[in-house]
Amino acid sequence: MGTDPDYVGRHLTTTEHGRLVGTHAGAYMNAFGTLANTALSFSAVRSLVTRLLRRGGVILRLHRLSDPAVGVVDRETEGIRRVLEFLRAERHELIALDEMISRLKGDGPPLDRTIAVTIDDGYYDQVAIGAPLFAAYDCPVTTFVATGFLDGELWFWWDKVKYVFRHTPRREIRLDVASQEIAYTLLEAEDRKSAAMDFTERAKRVPQEEKESALERLAAVAEIEIPQRPPQLFAPMTWDQVRACEKNGMTFGPHTVTHPILARASDEQCRREIEVSWERLQAEVDRPVPVFCYPNGQPEDFGPREIEILRETGFAAAVTTVPGYNLAATFQANLEDRFALRRFGNIDSLPNVIRFVSGADRVRLALTRISR
Ligand SMILES: [Zn+2]
Repeated sequence: MGTDPDYVGRHLTTTEHGRLVGTHAGAYMNAFGTLANTALSFSAVRSLVTRLLRRGGVILRLHRLSDPAVGVVDRETEGIRRVLEFLRAERHELIALDEMISRLKGDGPPLDRTIAVTIDDGYYDQVAIGAPLFAAYDCPVTTFVATGFLDGELWFWWDKVKYVFRHTPRREIRLDVASQEIAYTLLEAEDRKSAAMDFTERAKRVPQEEKESALERLAAVAEIEIPQRPPQLFAPMTWDQVRACEKNGMTFGPHTVTHPILARASDEQCRREIEVSWERLQAEVDRPVPVFCYPNGQPEDFGPREIEILRETGFAAAVTTVPGYNLAATFQANLEDRFALRRFGNIDSLPNVIRFVSGADRVRLALTRISR
């Protein structure tokens, strides 16, 4: 086999739910059959695994944590606790993201099954529930915050969508989004949830102004007045909480001011979102991490323009929501790679995390190459 480590991350096509998608799925499945038919010995496989596991960094990402007292239903703390117990028992190295970046650059010992944990957005539960949970396992965490959210300038548009669908007295809603008429029937709680998800996905794909006007129209037809401040369910952490967590070892990085998808923002807004969020963070915390987190974080959500501004502003790296491994060789060789670090989600599921950190995906992908 060739030794193109870039292949590993770039073509990893598992979705959030671990389901296989994309053009490599067929080849991937064939790999098992091919393996059974080849004389590839156990020791060859083992040495392959060992080689692939070395020099790689795994970054895990988390969004919200369930908080039954407030009604937040999201990632389960018990699941995360089991994951952290497993990682500690298996002696995985848990390091801060900035240390992982240094080691990807080649400073310090090579990465070997090493893990960094990140949290996105800046919700209250991430410090109230997440910070003590990770601290109990001495697991460093870097949290990426949308600074305008913490500054009380906004709450997230997707939460407003949830709020509208949750509270509307209407049983049916019809409106146009991107010149397409959509209709939702809202009889059960499940209908409200799936309508909110559908509307959010549609709104992500339209330009910023159109998204805002669609949200306004939605609120109007739903007969809901969206409050200026978010209810506790959708509330941010405060800067005081940020500083208290920083004293206990959590670090913070910028995630824009207002959380727009940068690729759909104007040049001017794009620059402002990056620069102002970095300035605000530097003003509020002692040790801001010069690593940026792209809103939405898929390959189409950022590009050379964003990378150029990040470089000019002095960032060392940036993280995406694309699942995959980060290798020192590609980090050092490609600028694009440094500003598109990969992360795995679904981290309250032990089977998923075992799959990510054991390198099982890497081995399967490598076998795909052998079979070609
Ligand atoms: Zn985000």
